[in-house]
Amino acid sequence: MADKYTQLVSQGLGKDLAKRLGLPQPVELRRYRPGAPLVTGPVLVSGDSAGADDIATTLLGWGLDVRRNALPKEKLGAIVLVLDAVQHPDDLGKPVLTAGASLRDLAVNARVVTISRTADSAQSPASAAARQGIDGLLRSLAKELRAGATANGILLDDDLATTSPSALGALRFFLSGRSAYVDGQFLTVSSTRGLMPGDPEKPLAGKVAVVTGAARGIGAAIARTLHRDGATVVAVDIPAAGDHLARVANEVRGTALQLDISRDDAGHRIIEHAVERHGRLDIVVHNAGITRDRLLANMDEGRWRSVIAVNIAAQLRINEALLASEHFKDSPRIVSVASTSGIAGNRGQTNYGASKGGVIGMVRSTAAHMEPFGGTINAVAPGFIETEMTAKMPFAIREAARRLNSLKQGGQPQDVAEAIAFLASDAAGGITGGVLRVCGQQLVGA
Ligand code: NAD
Repeated sequence: MADKYTQLVSQGLGKDLAKRLGLPQPVELRRYRPGAPLVTGPVLVSGDSAGADDIATTLLGWGLDVRRNALPKEKLGAIVLVLDAVQHPDDLGKPVLTAGASLRDLAVNARVVTISRTADSAQSPASAAARQGIDGLLRSLAKELRAGATANGILLDDDLATTSPSALGALRFFLSGRSAYVDGQFLTVSSTRGLMPGDPEKPLAGKVAVVTGAARGIGAAIARTLHRDGATVVAVDIPAAGDHLARVANEVRGTALQLDISRDDAGHRIIEHAVERHGRLDIVVHNAGITRDRLLANMDEGRWRSVIAVNIAAQLRINEALLASEHFKDSPRIVSVASTSGIAGNRGQTNYGASKGGVIGMVRSTAAHMEPFGGTINAVAPGFIETEMTAKMPFAIREAARRLNSLKQGGQPQDVAEAIAFLASDAAGGITGGVLRVCGQQLVGA
């Protein structure tokens, strides 16, 4: 559901007025609905490498209307710009300008996706320059697109084919309505692991997933989304949130576990509940989090300690139990909720920023420990999301935070949940140790 301002300027008099006054013109974003088409128009595959040909063939196999050359004035649902073979910044001009000539013809809520290689794996300075150049190019392009269109990129380690399973998984995610509020971001694929789901509408079929902080807000949306995608959900929250928790657990036909995640035995309790009630444990989503904002000059020990305890220390302790458990060895997934405050910083949130930056560091380091048994761990960093928490912000600050991003609107809890559901799926098996921002390309900070 779009906010009131977005509804007002989306049609009729409000639309004309906003245009004339130069006011922000957000559009209602195309969000995933089961059964909806992957993209809403022809897909231009740009680039002349063998990897680009392979992508065009794959997209044809997905039933999409694929073009290698766009017809003038054709409304495109997406442009996939394949740059996997560039060796020097000079190589960028032709394919990039060719794609650029079609940008005016993008449909509302269209997608631009680049596929290229990680600069870290480049063999020469020129190749590293070209690859890193794509980072700056993509982030700039995302700021130029209008009407709900987004630009995101897939980075492949050297030797990985453009059609490796998680590259295709990431491509489907970026093309679909599941990535509505992800803009100007990259997903890095570092191995050939990953499996495309048998049923793309039920990518989590047969999985048992634990979601902490599931009684309300983003956590409740994660529980609903994982259930929609086929998982059996264990909803965890503090005993004081018991009634709300039971309601969410019933709605998703899962089970409720009343538990303070900062307890020493929280990891053990989570594993025990999942295995005793559902026979297995595949996915853990660390979503529970708290804020206790104060300028550092006014910060007391209680505020500092409680935020660190819930937002990062609890996750570290639970992960230790998970990694030690024989029940968490079958290509398991951990997805942790960080925040853009942990990347760009936020006034009044030194404790929260430390805890959320900590989540990103923890994820990077834990990836190696999950790797031997095919496990992955990633973080999702939300920006401004429309929840009870952000509804309480003073009007002017809230309105500024809501508009200061490339999509000119706040995200929905479902947008965060969709990114988590993707990272928790088999299709994302080759993606680990990373952080994906769900922030509409926030313009403030990093
Ligand atoms: P929320 O306050 O609405 O929900 C958090 C849930 O976590 C609550 O149900 C709460 O009872 C539960 N919880 C708190 N402490 C717990 C504990 N010790 N044990 C078990 N459960 C506990 O918050 P939200 O807005 O839905 O945020 C969810 C996550 O997303 C948090 O990690 C938050 O930091 C992060 N986040 C939110 C935003 C946003 O804009 N709302 C932005 C960036 C990051």
